[in-house]
Amino acid sequence: MGVVSLVNPKSFNVGTIKVSILLLLFVHPIAAAVMPVHADSQCYGTVSNGRIVDSINLPIHGINFTAYSSLATMLGRTHVHSKVAEVIAEAYSELRTTLPDAIFVYGETGWPSGGRFRPHRTHQNGLSVDFFVPVRNKEGKFVTLPTSPINRFGYDIEFDADSRYEDYEIDYSALAEHLYQLDKSARKAGIGIALVIIDKAYLPKLFASRHGTYLRDHVPFMKGKPWVRHDEHYHVDFAVPCQPTEE
Ligand SMILES: [Zn+2]
Repeated sequence: MGVVSLVNPKSFNVGTIKVSILLLLFVHPIAAAVMPVHADSQCYGTVSNGRIVDSINLPIHGINFTAYSSLATMLGRTHVHSKVAEVIAEAYSELRTTLPDAIFVYGETGWPSGGRFRPHRTHQNGLSVDFFVPVRNKEGKFVTLPTSPINRFGYDIEFDADSRYEDYEIDYSALAEHLYQLDKSARKAGIGIALVIIDKAYLPKLFASRHGTYLRDHVPFMKGKPWVRHDEHYHVDFAVPCQPTEE
């Protein structure tokens, strides 16, 4: 007779719930008393060969931003370095003043412990973040791009030469404002931006915007051709010093 057959699944579940409640009641307050809210993260290696300890899961949404997918968030695909989380939050907070009617969507970041993050080539040590392009609808109102499993969480969206996809049009001044705020916040946090990957065709439009000169002079845009088209999202690698990997 196997051990499993002795366990009634129903009572097992109830037992699990009881244990969880006990943990919540008794363990959590003690743990909270001795542990800080969150430790600073420690990254190792590089964005293409690395890992992270004590990463942070980005909030699913805030007043002017949302994750591309609550499912992907729950699966653990939106973890970052604590410094990166701080910079992202500060930039969104600034955008509430500078662009109060805009709404922003962030995409994939990385696993809780980093490492290989398919289908991305980087995103391995908590320093890479994808952001979906800010868009307006036909009425000129800021909206979020449709991101669901049907279109590979938004990554399958293809913009045409006029920066349009269905009823959506890219707002370059909002995009430029976001990059400007990210760079400013990153510098303030004592880190910086190591690389921005975005469709090269967008650069003249970004450089023609209000913060164009600043972006051209301060933000390191990828010069070469990326391995996938970055038209629906822009990829940002933040510059945080990391420990070397063991191997
Ligand atoms: Zn990316």
